[in-house]
Amino acid sequence: MKKITILGSTGSIGLSALDVIKKNPGRFQVVALAAGQNVNLLKKQIEIFKPKLVYVSTKENALKLRQDLTLNYKIKILYDREGLNEIASFPSADIIVSAISGAAGLMPTLAAIDAGKDVALANKETMVMAGEIVNRRAKQKKVKIIPVDSEHSAIFQCLQGEKIENLKRIILTASGGPFLNFTVNELKQVKLNQALKHPRWKMGKKITIDSATLMNKGLEVIEAKWLFNLDFGKIDVLIHPQSIVHSMIELIDGSVLAQMGIPDMRIPISYALTYPERIINDISSLNLLETEKLEFCQPDMKKFPCLRLAYEAGICGGTTPAVLNAANEIAVAAFLEQKIKFVDLPKIINKVLTAHVCGEDPSLESILNADSWARIKTTEILERITS
Ligand code: NDP
Repeated sequence: MKKITILGSTGSIGLSALDVIKKNPGRFQVVALAAGQNVNLLKKQIEIFKPKLVYVSTKENALKLRQDLTLNYKIKILYDREGLNEIASFPSADIIVSAISGAAGLMPTLAAIDAGKDVALANKETMVMAGEIVNRRAKQKKVKIIPVDSEHSAIFQCLQGEKIENLKRIILTASGGPFLNFTVNELKQVKLNQALKHPRWKMGKKITIDSATLMNKGLEVIEAKWLFNLDFGKIDVLIHPQSIVHSMIELIDGSVLAQMGIPDMRIPISYALTYPERIINDISSLNLLETEKLEFCQPDMKKFPCLRLAYEAGICGGTTPAVLNAANEIAVAAFLEQKIKFVDLPKIINKVLTAHVCGEDPSLESILNADSWARIKTTEILERITS
């Protein structure tokens, strides 16, 4: 029985992971669950999955959870930063699903690696901010980092049995989001509710906005660089609105391997939890006779500058990807609060990147400092725009 900790159990990935676990009771056991604010949902999850350890983000939430729970077994409730690291390194777990959203996922993921736990990685921000450090520590501790992001899972699956030196390039596919065919003028009028309607995937709000700006693909490019140890010149992006081909690899002999399937995150989550095995599920088969025509086109980086900004930040390296990520998180939060327009997002992120002095070969400390600096800088820029 594989023992699992889920960080971010109340989110979109967390719920899909719990669905996979629930449908395979003899194979998996939940030992710990971490959430942020959603105490009510966490309470329901505790009653079903009976973890030994849980985490919520504040003392108030921990007290509320303690009051609400009536269990016939002992459970430890943690909160605050140390609590998050403690749950991530819980000795009983074999594997951690890292599915907290944003930069908050970095430190617990590192704590899990330091404790020798394999990681099913959904939190791409971890790799964007500190990919080199993550890889170094994972190597030292001999832990596996198994991608959950559907594109990276696709690449990971295509690479099974292939020699990395035979890889010519990878092709990350992108749905293009809800505004793929919008004109520049139409993008200026975009409303929040339109941006939150992803045409293919049902996800958390932050990643849904990132998908609409193509920042999500940009973050994935940087994530892929570290997961597969590739130069940016070997990472291409192709728009594929149907989201059936989840990504592809091209090998030196001209062979192109693709991983396909209906868009359902439970497929890459199952693979990450069972790798290198596979399990049967109740997800519908892909019927290529019934799917829409599969289309591919180049991403338009003029219309969607966030993808270009991410490539540039990745190539610049050092602390720059952490700055890109932090500026994006703050700007997206402002867009979600309807304080700025959709088209302001890349402009604000660009301003922060321009003001940043890149620290090369960064330590974790300088990455965290760059993250804090970028949050303050972005907030200042936002105040100027919105006042
Ligand atoms: P959601 O917003 O749906 O969920 C985020 C989860 O993180 C929630 O459980 C939330 O708790 C928890 N959380 C947020 N902040 C904290 C914190 N400070 N401490 C503890 N828990 C916290 O996000 P998604 O599930 O969509 O995405 C999660 C990660 O997976 C992101 O990094 C995303 O990029 C990545 N990903 C997501 C995909 C998807 O299909 N959704 C696909 C590929 C990658 P609460 O709600 O209780 O506050």
